[in-house]
Amino acid sequence: MKKNIITALLSHDQAVCPHCDTKIGLKQISKYLLKGTNYNIQCPHCNRALHPKREPIKFYYCFCAGFISIVAPFWLYIWYVEDNFWKAILLSIATLIVCIIVICILTIRRIAFE
Ligand SMILES: [Zn+2]
Repeated sequence: MKKNIITALLSHDQAVCPHCDTKIGLKQISKYLLKGTNYNIQCPHCNRALHPKREPIKFYYCFCAGFISIVAPFWLYIWYVEDNFWKAILLSIATLIVCIIVICILTIRRIAFE
């Protein structure tokens, strides 16, 4: 059951090679996630270069989301919960990790190649 939810979350039906219609695996998409938009990935089936159609999520939005997910929980914790630097930092890191996971999932879901 849990596996089904994860599979549904990470469904990437749009990620198909435009040359041979092979579905592009998460392994290939992960290379793109790590190296960025300028990196061309290769179709595992026909070995032709694939370019993402567009930036799945604008870098600017990712940057803002990352920044907010660090700053907001930090100060909210300090102001409303406890005046404790290290606990606030831990909360920030936890929020950032969740934020990164969400961005990865959204990118995988939105990615399409040409
Ligand atoms: Zn192909």
